[in-house]
Amino acid sequence: MIKRPLTKPLKLILLEILNKRMDLPHDQKLYYSQLKKGYEGEMMFDALTEKLSCDCYILNGLRFEFNNTTFQIDSMIAMQQTLYINEVKNFEGDYFYENGKFYSRNGSERKDPLVQLERSSSQLRQLLHHLGYKIKVESYVVHINPEFTLYQAPLDAPIIFPTQINRYINNLNRIPTILNRKHEILCGKLISLHVEEDPYAKLPPYKYGGMRKGFTCAICNSFAISVHGQHCVCEDCGHVESVESAVLRIVWEIKMLFPELKITTNLVYDWCGGVGDKKRIRRILGKHFRLVGAHQWAYFE
Ligand SMILES: [Zn+2]
Repeated sequence: MIKRPLTKPLKLILLEILNKRMDLPHDQKLYYSQLKKGYEGEMMFDALTEKLSCDCYILNGLRFEFNNTTFQIDSMIAMQQTLYINEVKNFEGDYFYENGKFYSRNGSERKDPLVQLERSSSQLRQLLHHLGYKIKVESYVVHINPEFTLYQAPLDAPIIFPTQINRYINNLNRIPTILNRKHEILCGKLISLHVEEDPYAKLPPYKYGGMRKGFTCAICNSFAISVHGQHCVCEDCGHVESVESAVLRIVWEIKMLFPELKITTNLVYDWCGGVGDKKRIRRILGKHFRLVGAHQWAYFE
């Protein structure tokens, strides 16, 4: 049973919009692609844990602030005797361990997922102790990408390789487990302790004027959109979307990037790249939002 569904991180959503509408600095572009890849990996693992038929709770994407530090748990599977902690990695290519350190094939040292896992499970054990719970914690680094190879991995390291994931899930399914009220309370408590990361922290500086305006395709992000009557057509992938839905996506993007801006017809018209007509935009906004104020001070919320 899924107690906390996987949701797309707000920071990833923001970077997606920024990447589309401005030239991200190189390091932010890299960070964006890592976040995206990480999230894709979590979705893949989530799809597998959804197949669990045993009595368990699945808690995704928890982040705690405890002991003056923060730690994150990608996927937690709560069963009768044990909490299974999964640190999901979507690495691709060849990696190796040497003298207890983790490297990518070209020899550059990388953040060791085992160290990260050890840290987060230790923090979790302390948090559970603090809450007065005695439940076993078993933790694993799960490498989800079938194109990942790790050389010289310590044999006894808690690593689940792509070829072992199905077996891991099947083994979990076979463990006898019955959850009771205590587990329910514990999971509710952990969910309530989740602290959302500020998605606006550490974003590259951006300004309204620096954003590339215009309709974009909901599928391929292309700006090559032509409006035909009630529809927007993507000239790159052929995707067809109603103007109404495209305008609502634009409003959503403005609200995400500039929460302080008031939504007005002129603003949305400008963001649409001056395509279409203002009357239609006003009608769409009027249908979905409440008009506040009058004349040139009117805005929608
Ligand atoms: Zn398209």
